[in-house]
Amino acid sequence: MDIFPEYRDDDLCADCGGKCCMVYGPSQNLTRQKLHEDERHLYGGGHYLGYGVEPLSEKIHPHACEYLGLSGCLISWEMRPPICKNFRCGLWRDLNNDRQKRTGSRHLPVVKGKVTMG
Ligand code: SF4
Ligand code: SF4
Repeated sequence: MDIFPEYRDDDLCADCGGKCCMVYGPSQNLTRQKLHEDERHLYGGGHYLGYGVEPLSEKIHPHACEYLGLSGCLISWEMRPPICKNFRCGLWRDLNNDRQKRTGSRHLPVVKGKVTMG
């Protein structure tokens, strides 16, 4: 059973470029151990050996995740840490709240057990 529901909006996050992937900055303060060496998913992280891709040798920003490229996350969606697939920033939640007000929908659409933004 998935403990973390997955939220996915490729277009929104591509436009943003992955601001929430500045995971080592003061607002999120994650560690590599929690995010990429979390074999038992104690923190919702993943394990780098399962990603199928190497991290950047040089990060794009001192606070950035080592898997954040200029076009977003280098790891395929299926292989990403659960906490990454679960996260929605304030902008996303605000947009979704607006959408719910407009459409009257009280729930996000669910597709194959995954929650997505319609
Ligand atoms: S969740 Fe928000 S901050 Fe993160 S990439 Fe998507 S739009 Fe950007
Ligand atoms: S693994 Fe990918 S989605 Fe998660 S913080 Fe790093 S770049 Fe962002």
